[in-house]
Amino acid sequence: MMHKLILWDIDGTLLYSGGVAGEAMRAAMTRVYGRPSDNERRAYAGKTDQQIILETFPDRPAEELLGQLDVFTATYLAILNEWADVFRTRGRVLEGVVDVLQRLRAKGVVQSLLTGNLAPIARLKLDLMGLAKFFDFDSGAYGSDSPRRVDLPPIAASRAAQRYGRAFANADIVVIGDTPNDIACARAVGARAVAVATGPFGVEELRAHAPDAALPNLADTEAALAAILAE
Ligand SMILES: [Mg+2]
Repeated sequence: MMHKLILWDIDGTLLYSGGVAGEAMRAAMTRVYGRPSDNERRAYAGKTDQQIILETFPDRPAEELLGQLDVFTATYLAILNEWADVFRTRGRVLEGVVDVLQRLRAKGVVQSLLTGNLAPIARLKLDLMGLAKFFDFDSGAYGSDSPRRVDLPPIAASRAAQRYGRAFANADIVVIGDTPNDIACARAVGARAVAVATGPFGVEELRAHAPDAALPNLADTEAALAAILAE
């Protein structure tokens, strides 16, 4: 059994939500916080949900906004649950993902999440796409834990160490994601950074941020395993 902790990003890495989750999030923000002062659709990729809330309402104090985070989370979760059928119809698991998850599971590595999604939203998205069974949710870190993505790898590492009774060396932690923010948060702790160009950034754009490996997608299972496990 390999002692590795593989931390997956969700949106643009494991799945596309077909815009449904973004719409649900905006609907929840409007319900809880009111209309944003400008209606400009902001880029969400690579950002935590807390960060998105703070950026959407820049004139409001952070303590006030984040003081409502539990209410916001419950509202967002309720809306996305209501829209589950639309999410399943418009969303999709990205090419090659299931094969890579299965192969890694067979190797006995720990697989969890490192995502800007609030924890219950992460679980719901993966449930709806049939991917939840691959993940040990309690070894991950989420947008509920901090507005700053760079804070998340140490949180996941300490949760995993508690669960498995043994620390994971930073070099045995792998962060897989589709944006420069994913690469940067891996770099900050000396974890392995694997970038996949299935989100808004191309392979060359991602390479400019110096990940350990950059792949166009996960369709080539052997190439993906080699990139992730550094074999
Ligand atoms: Mg992403």
